[in-house]
Amino acid sequence: MAKKVLKFGGTSVGTIERIQHVAKIVKKEHDAGNKVIVVVSAMAGKTNELIKFSKKISNDFNKRELDVLLSSGEQVTSALLAGALIEKNIKSKSWLNWQIPILTEGEHSNARIVNMNISKINKFLEEGVAIIPGFQGISKNGEIMTIGRGGSDATAVAIAKLFNADSCEIYTDVDGVYSTDPNKIPLAKKIEKISYDEMLELSTLGAKVMQSSAVQTAMIYDIPLEVKSTFTNRKGTKIFNQQNIDYTKSVTGVAYSKDDAKITLIGVEDKPGVAANIFEPLNQAQINVDMVIQNVSSDQKTTDITFTIKREDLLKTKKILENNKNIVYKNITHNDKVSKISIVGAGMVSTPGVTYKMFRGLADNKINILAISTSEIKLSVIIDEENTLNAVKKLHTIFDLD
Ligand code: ADP
Ligand code: ASP
Ligand code: MG
Repeated sequence: MAKKVLKFGGTSVGTIERIQHVAKIVKKEHDAGNKVIVVVSAMAGKTNELIKFSKKISNDFNKRELDVLLSSGEQVTSALLAGALIEKNIKSKSWLNWQIPILTEGEHSNARIVNMNISKINKFLEEGVAIIPGFQGISKNGEIMTIGRGGSDATAVAIAKLFNADSCEIYTDVDGVYSTDPNKIPLAKKIEKISYDEMLELSTLGAKVMQSSAVQTAMIYDIPLEVKSTFTNRKGTKIFNQQNIDYTKSVTGVAYSKDDAKITLIGVEDKPGVAANIFEPLNQAQINVDMVIQNVSSDQKTTDITFTIKREDLLKTKKILENNKNIVYKNITHNDKVSKISIVGAGMVSTPGVTYKMFRGLADNKINILAISTSEIKLSVIIDEENTLNAVKKLHTIFDLD
């Protein structure tokens, strides 16, 4: 008998038929004698629909009310699933975040779970299945909070940690983590097992199959995860701490995202303190700068600085740069039709030539690199958005992932 956390994503609970199918999976686990806690997302598309509704009222919709609104999607699916289990003669109950409570800290839309009262649910698990809506919690002031898009994954991992669960299974619409998005690149290959570090890089860089903060928590507390399909019985992907793995490939996966924008300041003075003057007000405005390139100045007097930020921060960033008297430059340009393509692999550490191979591959396909950033196990480039899928496909082939 094990204590299991099962998380079902939006597509898995997207219709009543699918919720009934999920109830069958849960019943099987319960009948096998396991203690089961289920975390559910909202029906696929629901959260986006609710965001659209709020935007019809205001582009700057009240943040408190937005969290009240968005958390409703998961309330619907948790009640429907509990009801479906009760119909199958299984004792089941849904709890809303404030009924447990699931305590969060941080800002609206981006809070994080810090604690949870596990006693009543633990007691209930003796006889029944507990259903918990993902993506939400309550602040110490009693406000409803959401924890970031895709946040039901983070709810599942937090629950696995707090309940000291034996396993945490992420049921979704693909049967595991692939070398790249299998819905976009059909040649993508399923990865049988992957380390936390690699999964964290992949999800941070755009592979939305797992939410990055969920992977981070799993890594910190060493909670093994399994990503598997709600719709097939195929074996999924195991995510865990792998240290002595024999990496036969330098690259494990290719990820991409279209969330960035690039800004270039032309003709910036080339002297100490200038970069600090530029990035200080951005930091104060909580604008995250990702990649930075500073050109060598040809005249020793002025230089150009290029950097990338989240696309949603573009207007705010430009305003700061245009209005701050300490930031002096000749011209400012921006490009928000860019994408970030990343190769990720723990094997990169011990394989020389990966950087060259990536750049050569892109060049041979006439894809221009606009910015670069690296870490020990990843290499990211910014390119024109129109080349995204072509670049992913080519890199996937070049690094033997097809
Ligand atoms: P859920 O609603 O179950 O949380 P998501 O839509 O958040 O599901 O994540 C699953 C999707 O992630 C897949 O349908 C797939 O298109 C996408 N995806 C992106 N990169 C990958 C990858 N490397 N492996 C598997 N799926 C990926
Ligand atoms: N429903 C939320 C979202 O769409 C949370 C989740 O699905 O994990 O972001
Ligand atoms: Mg998800």
